[in-house]
Amino acid sequence: MLLYESTRGSTAPVPAAGAIKTGIAPDGGLFVPVRDVSMPPEELAGLVEQDYRRRAAAVLQLFLTDFSPAEIRDCVSGAYGGDKFDHPAVAPAIKLDDGLFVLELWHGPTCAFKDMALQMLPRLLPLAAAKTGEDKQIAILVATSGDTGKAALEGFRDVPGTRIIVFYPARGVSEMQRLQMVTQAGNNVHLVAVEGNFDQTQSGVKEIFADPAMNAAAGKGGYRFSSANSINWGRLVPQIVYYFSAYLDLLRQGEITSGEAVNFVVPTGNFGNILAAYYARRMGLPVHRLICAANRNNVLTDFIRTGIYDRGREFYRTTSPSMDILISSNLERLLYAVTGRDAGRVRNWMESLRTVGRYEVDDDVRKQIQAVFWSDFAGDGQTAAAIRDTHKRYNYLLDTHTAVGKFVYDRYREATGDAHKTVLVSTASPFKFNQSVAAAVLGEEAVRGRDEFALLSALSRFTGLPVPQGLRDLDIKPVRHTLTVAPGEMKRVVREILGG
Ligand SMILES: *Cc1c(COP(=O)(O)O)cnc(C)c1O
Repeated sequence: MLLYESTRGSTAPVPAAGAIKTGIAPDGGLFVPVRDVSMPPEELAGLVEQDYRRRAAAVLQLFLTDFSPAEIRDCVSGAYGGDKFDHPAVAPAIKLDDGLFVLELWHGPTCAFKDMALQMLPRLLPLAAAKTGEDKQIAILVATSGDTGKAALEGFRDVPGTRIIVFYPARGVSEMQRLQMVTQAGNNVHLVAVEGNFDQTQSGVKEIFADPAMNAAAGKGGYRFSSANSINWGRLVPQIVYYFSAYLDLLRQGEITSGEAVNFVVPTGNFGNILAAYYARRMGLPVHRLICAANRNNVLTDFIRTGIYDRGREFYRTTSPSMDILISSNLERLLYAVTGRDAGRVRNWMESLRTVGRYEVDDDVRKQIQAVFWSDFAGDGQTAAAIRDTHKRYNYLLDTHTAVGKFVYDRYREATGDAHKTVLVSTASPFKFNQSVAAAVLGEEAVRGRDEFALLSALSRFTGLPVPQGLRDLDIKPVRHTLTVAPGEMKRVVREILGG
């Protein structure tokens, strides 16, 4: 059976069920498999003609060895079957030109890529609780920069044995994101606005997880904490799937030959999405470079270039709010992998990040990272120009996050001349960030004074595409959540909700 250990080295290894149930390791680290997992080439070849669900089951089974094939099949059908996703391919790879493809990850219920994992995690978690003999209910705490929150609320809505509390930065999310969340229905869902930015919100949640008194209070109320953020291993595995699926689609469509390496460009915030691509590469998927695209909050670009991670910098609100992050939690897993599982070094860096806001990795580590990753960033003006240019050239509309990726991809081509076929990972529907997208293609004038819903219609007319189901009718749905608190009050709110 495959076991999972903590990146900080002082937690006894547990099966996947244990890692998924607890979310974060008790020593404050993140769970990772104790050994590398690979996808046998013959198994990969056998997946070319299979659909997304079969591909997902194959990848999941390699990591979740304590889950039976029947359990995994059920989870996969529940997550990606029926009409949950509004595209039959679930995550289609669209060809823009001979060298560039867009992997659309936003056909799920909330129109952002978070659905890919958050339709799966709520199915894995109750099974994980049962497998570990858990007698308490699971209380999911989430910090969101906008998209995770809605996807998690939707995924966990009315899932028996669970309760979910989502915290979001009061002024750090787009109006569509806010409306999606405050209108959330369900008997086990709670939403709290925090007067602070995403990093403060995320730190608040991490503190609650690490606080023995909070854990005791939850226990008294009959709950045990878990996480639906990408620190939870149960969110990462479903994200590995679509890198395989994109590759298999290119293979099936004859765009690449077997074994040919491709690049992935990933708009990055918390480093979860691109980390899943890195794991796919380690599993044997032919990947040349992983291109990490950042917005003006370019802490990752600096890190990949210099080996210095420094969060002591100004925080900017950009038109790609889901990437407005200065502390990228999942980087810890990458560091653990490239140091050959050196928990001691990882612990020191994370401690240094916590206390002085900065760390510097050794040369060997930086070089290993640079051998795979390349990074640049886009400002808001460059992002808008990328939306406009891509629409002119390909008649294809990008959202702001994906446009950051497109800008960085063009920079990469210019800088390196690398001609490997490249997949641009598209993380949100353009309708979800309608203000900035409409301003980019219709002009500031056309946007001024028009509300969200007028803009949705305008974009729909402009593209000839329907407004996605998840964004319709938000103006007439009742607002169900209005609570706003200071960062210092997050603990109190959790206690009140869980009654401990
Ligand atoms: C969450 C999100 C990102 C960033 O993904 P990470 O896994 O945090 O790096 C990028 N774009 C959109 C639209 C998102 O919702």
